[in-house]
Amino acid sequence: MFLAIDDTDSRKGMCTTFLITELLREFEGLNLMDYPRLVRLNPNVPWKTRGNGAVVIRLGDGVEKKDLVGFDGKEIFSYTGESVDMDDALERALKVVEKWSETSEDGTNPGLIVSNEKAPYKMYQEAVKDVVELVDTIAALEKLDCRYTGLGNRRGLIGALAAMAWIPNDHTYELITYREQKRWGTVRKLNGMIRFDRETERTFDSYDHDEKQQAVAPRSPCPVLYGVRGDDHRELMDALDIIEGEPIDRWLLFKTNQATDEHIQYSTADEVKPWTSVHIKGTVTSRPNTITGGHVFFDIDDKLTAAAYEPTKGFRDLVKKLIPGDKLELWGGIREEPLTLNIEKMKVVELSEKEEKVANPQCPDCKKRMSSIGKNAGFRCRKCGTRAEEDDIETKLVERELEEGYYEVPVCARRHLSKPLKRIHSG
Ligand SMILES: [Zn+2]
Repeated sequence: MFLAIDDTDSRKGMCTTFLITELLREFEGLNLMDYPRLVRLNPNVPWKTRGNGAVVIRLGDGVEKKDLVGFDGKEIFSYTGESVDMDDALERALKVVEKWSETSEDGTNPGLIVSNEKAPYKMYQEAVKDVVELVDTIAALEKLDCRYTGLGNRRGLIGALAAMAWIPNDHTYELITYREQKRWGTVRKLNGMIRFDRETERTFDSYDHDEKQQAVAPRSPCPVLYGVRGDDHRELMDALDIIEGEPIDRWLLFKTNQATDEHIQYSTADEVKPWTSVHIKGTVTSRPNTITGGHVFFDIDDKLTAAAYEPTKGFRDLVKKLIPGDKLELWGGIREEPLTLNIEKMKVVELSEKEEKVANPQCPDCKKRMSSIGKNAGFRCRKCGTRAEEDDIETKLVERELEEGYYEVPVCARRHLSKPLKRIHSG
């Protein structure tokens, strides 16, 4: 039986992953099959919740408690244990959701699904890459052997169904620790994050070395103490020893689609769709322009504007070094109005040649340097009157301050779904 929930958190505090720990308490007579799953969905959906993550657990009944009752070439067992009735399970799960989620708050619209069947994979693919309508989710639910309910506008059902439909082809893990309830809303006291980042090999996004900021503890008043991410779940457990500060009330390991780039779809610069995330190839066609607020913009193929917004901090300094002619690959989310690609990652495929003016053109007859007639008006020899064009100036190649290769926004500005270069380079 799958139990999936989404959209129970809010800015004020509740977190969907915490609810899973409460649901595991409620259903402690059942066995947890595989890891709890934390599934992030399209980060560009306009009505998303904080992290746009849905959670699913799979529970089995009676498998653990077995008695030997006979032998017939092989052993015959009888299995005992709690049997799962879906109506009963939905009712019990809903009580937990209602107790803990912030349903009174606008913008919190929990969805809850109990199902004996897995949803089709395409329901996940659509929800991670695009915008799914509630009617389509309801239609898919009606075809499943399941029970479901939603509160508020019921939009949480979209994420809950999508999470259940996820197949973890590529996946990572997140170990999430939770605070004692009496400390919720107080300042988190933590240390050891730099050490954890340094001493573990396959973890990522724990510490932002550029901004000198930890990136494991949320700043919201939610029950989460910290979450650490990586490819090796055993290594993540080292955090329990290394990161210190306040008592951990409980912890849970999630299998997740974070850091997989599964939200990205390949597109050309002139075909990008708003609210999706894309991977495009193209050529820089304008000089990067910094506007008030520190956001940097440049054009790709004269068709699409790409942006490195202020929160991407030092990444903007790299972007400012681009010049027209540079060939790039870009990954990022598409903002609708105006249509802009919000860069998550960049590959400089080929740097164009940057030239610098050395001198005015030389007169072919008098061998003297010519003089400028006026801005963009060309040159003339003072002695004989021979004229020359603006681009007849003598230039030399200047060394570029940028190298070809991959660049990414700093940890603090990174999307949950964005595949860090560390994962790309380790294959
Ligand atoms: Zn001359």
